[in-house]
Amino acid sequence: MENNTKTTAIVSKGLLQSEELYRYVLETSVYPREPEPLKELRDVTAGHPKAVMGTAPDAGKLMAMLLKLVDAKKTIEVGVFTGYSLLLTALTIPDDGKIIAIDMNRDSYEIGLPVIKRAGVDHKIDFREAEALPVLDQLLKDKENKGSFDYAFVDADKVNFWNYHERLMKLLKVGGVVVYDNTLWGGSVAMPEEQTPEVFKSGRQATLEFNKLLAGDPRVQLSHVPLGDGITVCRRIY
Ligand code: SAH
Ligand code: CA
Repeated sequence: MENNTKTTAIVSKGLLQSEELYRYVLETSVYPREPEPLKELRDVTAGHPKAVMGTAPDAGKLMAMLLKLVDAKKTIEVGVFTGYSLLLTALTIPDDGKIIAIDMNRDSYEIGLPVIKRAGVDHKIDFREAEALPVLDQLLKDKENKGSFDYAFVDADKVNFWNYHERLMKLLKVGGVVVYDNTLWGGSVAMPEEQTPEVFKSGRQATLEFNKLLAGDPRVQLSHVPLGDGITVCRRIY
């Protein structure tokens, strides 16, 4: 356990006061309780040039708790990458639980797939290599899917977050939970536009718009949580 913790770099998204504080949280309550397959998945992802996209393990802890609290069985994942959040979900839901996992890039999913298989949870995953929006629209065409999902995690292209939200408000059951990732976008949402580094600009704009729309949406109860890169937890009210 110790070894893995040491080989994987700590990626702070800068939302906490200091790197040391983030390390403290990770080392105190996150890494010691992180299931072995998730550590392994972080390790196989660590060498990937886009490793920073992997879900923050501290945010993962809250997601696993939410999955248990809503007793999630039927779930959706939008944006798989190498599968950290997917494996976390697969490990947490019951043996007959299902995840519709959507990503237009199968190659990155295949990096994590051997770990997922070794963990014995791949039978819960229905991976769709596709753009997410048409898949969600397709799901909505089947009446049985409406109001049937317990949980969703959205972590793909930020410009489409509101489009995903509109679909998920129909797919989730009342009382179901959707978690949106990167909703503080490296802290850039609070930076003046002219001081925002170029790389953050487009994501920052999309995130600002999405956060504003979400805050005005009466269909959800929400909590904007500064874990990882910021996650927003929404519970469908009606
Ligand atoms: N949740 C993942 C990280 C996802 S990164 C983890 O824990 O590791 C974002 C992913 O979204 C990428 O793999 C990218 O291929 C995918 N993506 C981006 N735009 C998409 C779209 N329009 N439809 C489906 N997937 C998309
Ligand atoms: Ca993310």
